[in-house]
Amino acid sequence: MPDSSLTPKNYLGVPVERPKVAFFELSSCEGCQLQILNNESSLLAFLDLIEIVRFREAMSGGGDDYEIALVEGSVTRPDEVERLKLIRAQARLLVALGSCACFGGVNQLKNRFPLDWVKREVYGEHPIETAPARPLADFVAVDLKIYGCPIKKEEVERIVTDLVIGKEIVYPDYPVCMECKANGNLCLFELGEPCLGPVTRAGCDAWCPNSRAGCWGCRGPATEANLAQMLAIMDERGFSRETVIDRLECFGGFASQVAALRAAGGHR
Ligand code: SF4
Ligand code: SF4
Ligand code: SF4
Repeated sequence: MPDSSLTPKNYLGVPVERPKVAFFELSSCEGCQLQILNNESSLLAFLDLIEIVRFREAMSGGGDDYEIALVEGSVTRPDEVERLKLIRAQARLLVALGSCACFGGVNQLKNRFPLDWVKREVYGEHPIETAPARPLADFVAVDLKIYGCPIKKEEVERIVTDLVIGKEIVYPDYPVCMECKANGNLCLFELGEPCLGPVTRAGCDAWCPNSRAGCWGCRGPATEANLAQMLAIMDERGFSRETVIDRLECFGGFASQVAALRAAGGHR
């Protein structure tokens, strides 16, 4: 009988080194981590590829000898800055997992309001120390970003697999519309709904339009996104500039474009 501990692990028949991976959450809903656990059809093969040493949603305890750290959530408290720096010091590769980690995500909506007002309205008699929500890259070097709110579990598995086998990570550089049309969807504009698909980075397989819901841009801008044309389409279809801005700023990925729009148009 061969000693099974000496048998190399493999993925789809290819022997691979199994990197030690840890998952962390800062200010977040933990929905991105949940997505990974939800991927029952390929979860076991995925776990064969990596060695998970820390994953609060899936196991108790956890080690600190990881090589790859997948960090979910935005930074909103001073203790999170310290925690993030410790993770960075340990990890060979730090991955921002989801829109909160990449852009600030839905958490950054609070940055539009005075912080004292946010503390009073949200926490009332039980104030906590909280600061404007910011992405990981504002504090530490981020090696890789995995976009989406939540992330698309199939995309995470593809990216981690590529990392492990040493393949170049390639993101789609086209917008969500490409995936939407490939799926044969009726365009939501024809149904009178706004949609940010023309300017948003693909990779979600047009998740929202597939269910007849317009895109809110959770994955941030596509390469060479033509925002001027997006605005022209919205104008032509009768959607106000504030409707467009509300969508663009929902997840934080279009922050620079929104700032330019406000500067140009005097919007609030
Ligand atoms: S990106 Fe979305 S799903 Fe992921 S942690 Fe943030 S709010 Fe939750
Ligand atoms: S529904 Fe949205 S993503 Fe689909 S084709 Fe129309 S604008 Fe593009
Ligand atoms: S369609 Fe837009 S909002 Fe929906 S998951 Fe894809 S990028 Fe995010």
